[in-house]
Amino acid sequence: MATQLVYTPVESIEGIRTELRAGFASGKLKSIAYRKYQLTQLIYMIKDNMTRFEESLNADLGRPVLECRMLEIIPSIGEVAEQLNGVDKWSKPTKPPFSLNFAAMRPLIRHEAKGTVLIISPFNYPVWLSIGPLAGAIAAGNTVCLKPSESTPATSSLMTELIAKYLDNDVVRVVNGAIPETTKLLELQWDHILYTGTGRVAKIVATAAAKHLTPITLELGGKSPVIIDPACDLKTATKRILWGKVVNAGQTCVAPDYVLVPKDFQDKFVGALKETYEEFYPDPDKRSSAPGAFSRLVTPQATARVAGLLERTQGTIVFGGEVDKENKYIAPTVVKDVGPGDSLMSEEIFGPLLPIVPVENVDEAIKFINERDHPLALYVFSQDEQFKSKVFNGTQSGAVVANETVIHPGADGLPFGGVGPSGYGMHTGKYSFDMFTHQRASMDSPGWVDYILKFRFPPYTTNKSDATLRLMRSLPTRPTGPPALSGTSKWWGKWFLLALAVAVAGGLTSRLKMGSLSLPSFK
Ligand code: NAD
Repeated sequence: MATQLVYTPVESIEGIRTELRAGFASGKLKSIAYRKYQLTQLIYMIKDNMTRFEESLNADLGRPVLECRMLEIIPSIGEVAEQLNGVDKWSKPTKPPFSLNFAAMRPLIRHEAKGTVLIISPFNYPVWLSIGPLAGAIAAGNTVCLKPSESTPATSSLMTELIAKYLDNDVVRVVNGAIPETTKLLELQWDHILYTGTGRVAKIVATAAAKHLTPITLELGGKSPVIIDPACDLKTATKRILWGKVVNAGQTCVAPDYVLVPKDFQDKFVGALKETYEEFYPDPDKRSSAPGAFSRLVTPQATARVAGLLERTQGTIVFGGEVDKENKYIAPTVVKDVGPGDSLMSEEIFGPLLPIVPVENVDEAIKFINERDHPLALYVFSQDEQFKSKVFNGTQSGAVVANETVIHPGADGLPFGGVGPSGYGMHTGKYSFDMFTHQRASMDSPGWVDYILKFRFPPYTTNKSDATLRLMRSLPTRPTGPPALSGTSKWWGKWFLLALAVAVAGGLTSRLKMGSLSLPSFK
C-alpha cells in the first residue's frame, strides 16, 4: 500500500521558520566542528538506512536497486563527504589579490552563512537533490527548511523521519505538502531559496522571492539534445544514450531528450539502438512485468502525459511503445523520423521515449539547437576533435559533454546548473557551499594609512585633487584598432615563426656538432 505523506499544517509553517531563525541566531553553526558533526550524522543517516531508502525509492518510482545506489545513495553520500572535506578550507577567510593601494587596509573576504534558507526539491532524484543541497547549506553554516516533493510520499516520509532523528532540529526542519504548503513557505522571507523543478513553477518561486528581494538559484530542465557524428563509436554511443534514457524511466533532468542524426545515417543508428535494447532487456517478458527491472513513471498523471505525447507522434515507432497506465509503465521507446513540430518535440519528455530527428548535417543540428531554449545538457557523440569543438563552440547549454550522458552532474569539482530557461546559479561541491555563502568584504585600516591618504579629506584643494591621480591604475597600451576577429593574430604568428626558426637552427647546429647530419647521397 502506498505510504501516506503527512502534510505540515499550513498554520505551523511560519513558526518553523521562526525556530530556524532562532537556531541561526544561537550561533551554534559558527562552530565548524558542529557543522561537521551534522554532516557526519547526515552520512550515517543514509548509510544506516540504505535498505529503507532503496525500498522507498522502489515504492515511489519502481527504482531498481542498481539505480538507487548508483544515482541516488552513493552520490548523496559523496556530496555530503565533499562538503565535510571542504568545509575547513572553504570557510576560512581569504585574501583578495594584492593591491598596492589597499594592502595596508588588510582587505579580507569572510565566507559567512546567509542565514535561514529554503530548499524546494523535485520528485525525480528525491534523495540526492534534497540531501546534496542540504549538506551544502549546513556546511556553509545556514539553518535549513527542506521541502521535498509530495509526489514521492515514501521517500519524503522517510527523509522527514530520519532528519528529525539524526540532525539538530534547530538547524534543519522538513516541511511537507503540495501547493498550499509551498505557497505559504514562499510568502515568508528567506535568506536564499534553492528551487529545483519545472520552469513553470520556477516563475512562481522567482516572483514570490522578488517580493522579499530573496536571492534564488533555479535548477530547471528542458530538452537536452544529442548530436550524432556518423564517425562515432556507434556501440558505445547507443549504450550510453539508451542508458541515459532508461534510467529512472527517463525522469532525469539531464536525460538525452532527443537525438539529431544525419538523414542518411538514421537507419544505421536506429538499428544499433535496437541491438543495444535487445542486449539491455533480453527477456521480452521482463520489459513489462518484473518489478525493479525498469523504473516506473512517478504518478498516473505523469504516465498519461507521456503516453499522450506518444499517441500523438507523427514519427515511426522503431521499438517499445507498450503502455500500461495502471502500473505507471511505459516501455523504452525509440521513434524515428520525428519532425520539429511533432508532439515529442513540444515539451521536455521526462519519460522513456527517444525521438530521432533527422537533419542534413552538423551545421543544421547546431542551428536547430540554437533556435530553441538553451538546454541543461548538450551531448555530442564523435571521435573527431573538430566535430566536437564545432558543437562545443557553436552552442550554449548548462553543460556540454562528448561521448557520455547523464553522469556529469555527479563529477567532483564540476558545477551543475543551467543557462537561460534551464535555470541560473550552480550547485554541487564547492558551488553549493558558495551558493549558500555570503562573501562578506572586510577591512581593518590602521591609522597610519592617512599619512598616505590624507589628501582625501576636506577642505579640497587643487593639490589634493592632483594627488588623487596617484591612485590611478597603470593603463594598458592604447589600441590602434580592433583586433582581427578570427585566426591567429599577426603578433603570435611572428613569435611562432621566430620560435620555429630558433628550433630548426638549434637542431641543425647540434646535429652538425655531433657529425650526424646525413646529406642526401646521389648514387
Ligand atoms: P515541480 O516543479 O512540479 O515540483 C518541484 C517542487 O515544486 C515540488 O516540491 C512541488 O511541491 C513544488 N511545487 C509544485 N507546484 C507548485 C506551485 N504551484 N507553487 C509552489 N510550489 C510548487 O517539478 P518536478 O515535476 O518535481 O520535477 C521535474 C522537473 O524538474 C523537470 O523539469 C526536471 O528537468 C527538473 N529538474 C531539474 C534539475 C536540475 O538540477 N536542473 C534536477 C531535477 C529535476
